[in-house]
Amino acid sequence: MSGSGTTLDDYTDRYAQRINGMTASEIRALFAVASRPEVVSLAGGAPYVAALPLDAVGEMLGRLGSVHGATTLQYGLGQGTPELRERICEVMADSGIDAGGGASPDDVVVTVGGQQALDLVARLFLDPGDVVLAEGPTYVGALGVFQAAQARVVHLPMDDDGLIPAALEEGILAQQRAGARVKFLYTIPTYQNPAGVTLSEERREQVLDICERHGLLVIEDDPYGQLGFSGDAPLPLRARRREGVFYLSTFSKTFAPGFRVGWILAPHAVRDKLVIATEANILCPSAFSQAAVTQYLTTMPWREQIKAYRQIYGERRDALLTALGDMMPAGTTWTRPDGGLFVWATLPEGLDSKAMVPRAINARVAYVPGTGFYADGTGQRHLRLNFSFPPPERIREGVRRLAGVVEEELAM
Ligand code: PMP
Repeated sequence: MSGSGTTLDDYTDRYAQRINGMTASEIRALFAVASRPEVVSLAGGAPYVAALPLDAVGEMLGRLGSVHGATTLQYGLGQGTPELRERICEVMADSGIDAGGGASPDDVVVTVGGQQALDLVARLFLDPGDVVLAEGPTYVGALGVFQAAQARVVHLPMDDDGLIPAALEEGILAQQRAGARVKFLYTIPTYQNPAGVTLSEERREQVLDICERHGLLVIEDDPYGQLGFSGDAPLPLRARRREGVFYLSTFSKTFAPGFRVGWILAPHAVRDKLVIATEANILCPSAFSQAAVTQYLTTMPWREQIKAYRQIYGERRDALLTALGDMMPAGTTWTRPDGGLFVWATLPEGLDSKAMVPRAINARVAYVPGTGFYADGTGQRHLRLNFSFPPPERIREGVRRLAGVVEEELAM
């Protein structure tokens, strides 16, 4: 589909029902203007891959053929290569998901980024009309997947400690009373995109207990868990409970998104179904990308690289928070993330972040309006600010411009 998704085209009568309501993501639409050099973009979500040792990565890629042979150019297993699945288990062990907790290469399915992992889960579990419970706001790409599966997303509120367990329980009961089929909780418990908050230790147990009690699966999406700025994140949900929890992650933020390699750690009983679904979807993940990531994890200092990302993003987070504190008009609030890539800001009452976008672009600053992160179009007072990509001085300049725009709105 082109344009805003609301224009009619010659194929309108032919689309499948699931295409109804499929509109271009607000973020992608923004990227075109936001990428102009004169615009300070706080809108993106791109990792700062310039922090990688690019020459060394290039040399490693050049050696792939001689190290892995022609297999890098072949089809492979739908589940992904055994070598990469073993390395993935080492990566997960760093986050506390280990063999003792039942994590084995046999239960890992390699995917084309975290995004395909979400799509597979939706293919496996969602029928049209099913309800997915998710944080409000939540990851825009997950909303796209659930909408394409014709499921209905019901948002649950968060505070500074993440998802509110009582609201989860109430949400489940309300949906059940209304006769809806609630299939799973989709959650990004650590350094959430877009809110930047982290589910507290205590709440992790409560959330798991509630889901177990009501027979809900838990889809734990964890692209950012290793990107904490002040020590380690709380243990993932999957490290606490193995049954009923699907753990999704990706190398997009800890290495580079260009390889498009992610994974699912699934309960053993479901693993075969996931492989069948992925074979129907893509046959197999790219052998070349898998060999590249395997080689990177085997021969390069990947833990040091994660530390480098943490340090750079930590400095940029500080730059953003300081600039917001120095310059934003009274009545604006924002979250203070301990990791990840995003701050979630709330404008003074009465302002509309979506309506404000053209004026922000005129002032040469871009952000993503909050409405993109809700299935129901709410979130008008909010905006997502990215701090991983622009350097600190650009972040400060961006906030200066943004503060000016908000001040003008307040004066209108
Ligand atoms: N889940 C979340 C919460 C994300 O923020 C992202 C990327 N922005 C993804 C999944 C998908 O990541 P990938 O690039 O690995 O497809």
